[in-house]
Amino acid sequence: MRPLYEMEIIQIDITNSCIKQCSNCTRFCGHHRKNFFMVLETFKKAVDSLVDFPGMVGMIGGEPLLHPEFEEMAWYLEGRIQDQERRGLWSTIPENKMKYAATIKRVFGNLYLNDHAVNTILHQPILVAAQEMVMDREKMWEFIDSCWVQTMWSASITPKGAFFCEVAAAMDMLFDGPGGWPIEPDWWKRSPNQFGYQKELWCPICGCAIPLQRRPSVDCMDDVSPGNLVRLKRIDSPRATRGRCHIYDRGFAANWNPDPNWYMSNVEEESEYRKRIAEKLQDNEDQEQTPYEQQQFL
Ligand code: SF4
Ligand code: SF4
Repeated sequence: MRPLYEMEIIQIDITNSCIKQCSNCTRFCGHHRKNFFMVLETFKKAVDSLVDFPGMVGMIGGEPLLHPEFEEMAWYLEGRIQDQERRGLWSTIPENKMKYAATIKRVFGNLYLNDHAVNTILHQPILVAAQEMVMDREKMWEFIDSCWVQTMWSASITPKGAFFCEVAAAMDMLFDGPGGWPIEPDWWKRSPNQFGYQKELWCPICGCAIPLQRRPSVDCMDDVSPGNLVRLKRIDSPRATRGRCHIYDRGFAANWNPDPNWYMSNVEEESEYRKRIAEKLQDNEDQEQTPYEQQQFL
């Protein structure tokens, strides 16, 4: 694992509501009985805590454009993080949210657009517990210590605090965990030896670090281990109740080589795919201008 100050991106999860219910979603969309929407004050605190973080600050969900205060949040981010390249957005760009096109194009220097509309996007099983797959505990922690999500992706802030890993943050939300660290300046200066209870609690029931067979995101079916299915039933997961969970039985994967673009690496013409989604913004950018100049940020 790596220190948080070496990460390229730290995310702010503003909601876990989404228009999709992809297989093996890192935010477990569809498993919550009630979705969260981060309050504006918490978002401001989160951004303030990351002003001195050298990397990018991302707005993510679920689908962040479903948040009723998305624009106010985006404007605040723009006011506090001066460099546009340090402002990122992860979105499916829902059809009924095109009114945000002008704001999105102005605020964010990095757009990660993915509407999960093709069957070549493959998602790693998240809810297949490492501790149920790898009985040798030393080996299990070896896998976890080189987890690709933590070493290639992001820490995250949710309404429940700051976390060393975005998936751990989502697990804490799903399974009603103890919450993260206080959202305060310098929380992101922690090193792996300070991940403590968060790592101990969430990594053993997470499947990200284990070489498992991936599943097309459009299947809308989650791979789970028996112990995690019990956990999901205990929280009355709507998705588990609807039978959208499959007990994982496909063993370890050969040729399992995560890289930062792993989820998209099987998508032919990825640039065309991304362009198609981005064009939705192009078509709508002049529809509604935002009152940026009227906002008071500081
Ligand atoms: S679009 Fe993203 S957040 Fe929404 S269900 Fe799919 S993977 Fe999860
Ligand atoms: S919670 Fe999962 S994704 Fe995060 S570091 Fe642990 S094993 Fe990796």
